[in-house]
Amino acid sequence: MTPVIALLGRPNVGKSTLFNRLTRSRDALVADFPGVTRDRLVGAGRLGERPFWVVDTGGMLGEDPELSGKVSAQALMAAQEADAVILVVDGRGGLTADDRSIANTLRGLGQPVWLAVNKAEHLDTELVRADFFELGLGDPWPISSSHGHGVADLLETVLAGFPDDEPAAAEEADPRPVFAVVGRPNAGKSTLINRLLGEQRLIESPLPGTTRDCVRVPVVLDGRECVLLDTAGLRRKAQVHEAIEKFSVIKTLQAIDQAQVVILMLDGELGVGEQDAHIAGQALQRGRGLVLAVNKSDTLDDAARKALRMEVRRRLPFVEFAPIEFISAKNGRGVKALTKAAFAVQHSALARTPTSELTRLLETIVAANPPPMAAGRRAKLRYAHQGGHAPPTIVIHGTQVDKLPPNYLRYLENSFREALGLVGTPVRIVTKQGE
Ligand code: GDP
Ligand code: GDP
Repeated sequence: MTPVIALLGRPNVGKSTLFNRLTRSRDALVADFPGVTRDRLVGAGRLGERPFWVVDTGGMLGEDPELSGKVSAQALMAAQEADAVILVVDGRGGLTADDRSIANTLRGLGQPVWLAVNKAEHLDTELVRADFFELGLGDPWPISSSHGHGVADLLETVLAGFPDDEPAAAEEADPRPVFAVVGRPNAGKSTLINRLLGEQRLIESPLPGTTRDCVRVPVVLDGRECVLLDTAGLRRKAQVHEAIEKFSVIKTLQAIDQAQVVILMLDGELGVGEQDAHIAGQALQRGRGLVLAVNKSDTLDDAARKALRMEVRRRLPFVEFAPIEFISAKNGRGVKALTKAAFAVQHSALARTPTSELTRLLETIVAANPPPMAAGRRAKLRYAHQGGHAPPTIVIHGTQVDKLPPNYLRYLENSFREALGLVGTPVRIVTKQGE
């Protein structure tokens, strides 16, 4: 499973600078899509081949001065759910009472905590170590988030403690399709899962994981065995008071990570919120298949549905490929169609196409709309082969192909998706410069 690292610390120590540095290598695919909401809270990073998630807990409160020295309930939950915590302090400002109090809280959690002394680019490493050692969090790591010094070393040490498991192995261990049911609190996730369970036979009892894991619910849908990842179930038991705390960002991310298809439940009574855009963005970034389930459609008339469909496309333009299903988890309407859509998306995500067919399609697609000239030359797209699946990845070989502009790559993606009859899955276009 992808390790999750939470960044904690008082305001202005450089958490978001560190967050940005750690997540800078994010997928070009996502960055190029207009309308993708950049998630301030959670980002995907990579150290070499090693993926990880980072959570910036500073973004959880918008810094509240009232909370000085205290860790907000939300940040605390993120720290508890994370695999490791990095406490960030300001090396130039020196140790403060707030740092001490946050360190005390973190020591009580029993999580591995690393101490990053930021803004240390011009500081004497030995002095920094001596200054901050008393926090009792082991050796302080002098870093400079804005310059990048020491960040990779720290990260390597943090990640060294976690098993580097092969995602392929997990796939083989469980050949059943895996669908994650995600969405904001009260979107209707539990109601949907109960309905799917109610109509089908439960083949084994759900396995609860640790608090931050989603519950794996094996079911037979449409005569096929599959696994639902339930991100809503466990929190019912958790002692949470505020609505905002019910939503576990990390649980949602882990579910997206483990799923082949993400069923994003939108609350038909509330429309599309920022959180929905974040989740859709994460699904896209991970290359997952996606179905948008607009729930509570029993409360919507035809005009409202039409308006909502437009709102979904307008607010989530970067997942235009995802089918929209109007459902009522409560009365069951549309739930069969949703199941069918999820299977269709899964099928598309795993599709494989031979090189000869891809190359033939490439010729047609390019003939219909040739690439623009760049510096007086036009790229030549010679042939295409499939470089992977889930998501289908099409490698295009040719000359000058590395200079193709993002909108042309998008044209290629959409054209291939359409020509191959793929639904609900991103298609990755990779270019390979040749002679
Ligand atoms: P946050 O409130 O903890 O998220 O802190 P920010 O990331 O917003 O950073 C607060 C200020 O510290 C900004 O002005 C950053 O430019 C600055 N800063 C962050 N990292 C470094 C660093 O490594 N060195 C120096 N000199 N300044 C930094
Ligand atoms: P979760 O937090 O996403 O698991 O949401 P729940 O399944 O607990 O549902 C939240 C609230 O929405 C409950 O009061 C449900 O009865 C209600 N609800 C769920 N699905 C529907 C639906 O299809 N139509 C209507 N009208 N209400 C629904």
